[in-house]
Amino acid sequence: MKTKEKNTWCPGCTNMSLLRSVQEALTELINENKIEKKNISIAADIGCFAKIFDYINVSGFCGLHGRTIPLCFGMKVGNPELTVLGFAGDGATYGEGISHLIHNCRFNADFTMVVANNKTFALTTGQATPTSEKGYKGASTPLGVGEDPMNPLALALMSGASFVARGNALNPVQLKNILKQAVEHKGFAFIDILQPCLTFNNFTPYLQKNAYEIGDDYNVKDLDQALKKSLEWNGSLSEDGKIPTGVFYKKEKPIFEEQWPQLKKPWYQVERNINQKENVKEFL
Ligand code: SF4
Repeated sequence: MKTKEKNTWCPGCTNMSLLRSVQEALTELINENKIEKKNISIAADIGCFAKIFDYINVSGFCGLHGRTIPLCFGMKVGNPELTVLGFAGDGATYGEGISHLIHNCRFNADFTMVVANNKTFALTTGQATPTSEKGYKGASTPLGVGEDPMNPLALALMSGASFVARGNALNPVQLKNILKQAVEHKGFAFIDILQPCLTFNNFTPYLQKNAYEIGDDYNVKDLDQALKKSLEWNGSLSEDGKIPTGVFYKKEKPIFEEQWPQLKKPWYQVERNINQKENVKEFL
C-alpha cells in the first residue's frame, strides 16, 4: 500500500496519522476479501491532505482544486466495479467544491469521500476556509474572520447523505474503523476528519480535551438523533464544547448507479455499435 515517493508534509503533521489509518483500513479490507486491490481507485485535488494521493500505491486520478467529488463520481459511474475513495481538504470541499458535496449527498453514488478538516488553507499558508472559526486570523483575514463556521455534518445530513461520520486525527484506531465502515457502505459515505495543522492552525490541545467517541447505545439509523449530534459542537475552538466523533448516520438508500439501466455494466462491457463515419457524414 506504500509508495516510494518522498513525504513532504511538515514533520509530525497529523496527516501522517490519516495516511496510516487509510492504508491499514484498505489493507484489512483486502485481507478480509471484502475488496480487491486491483479495483481500488482514488481521487484527490490540490492541498496538503491531497498529497496522500502520492503515498498510497493504488490507481487513481489527481485533478483540480475542489473537484475530487466529480472525479470520484465519474470513475464510479464509468465502472461500478471499482471501490472509489476521494481525498481533499476543507477549503476545497466546503469552498469551491461545496455544490459537488451537496448534490452527491442527494445522488448517493457509491463512493467514500474523506475530508481532512484543519479549518484553514494549509498548503497556501493559512488563509481562512468556510470552517475557520469566527475571529480566526490568517493570511487573508488579518483582522479575523467575521462569520461563524459552517457545519459540514449537518449540511450532509440535510442534503440526504446515507453515511455521515466525524473522525479525529488523534484517534487513528477509531478512524480506521470508521473508514472500513465507510468503504463497505453501499452509497455515498462522507467523513469529516478534524485534523489540526501544526503550522497554521494547531488545535491539538482543544481536540485532545474535548473530543469524545459516540457510544454503542447510539442508533445510527435515527436521522433526528444524528442531526442533534451534528449540532452538539458549533465549530468554535475557543468556547468550551464537547465534540462527538464516530458514525453519526448510516442508512441503506437506492444508489445512483442502480437507477440508470445504462450504468449497470462497466463501460468496457457495453456494446455501443457506433458507426463513426455515419455519425459525422453530414459534417464532412
Ligand atoms: Fe500538515 Fe499543516 Fe504542514 Fe500542511 S502546513 S503539512 S497540514 S502541518
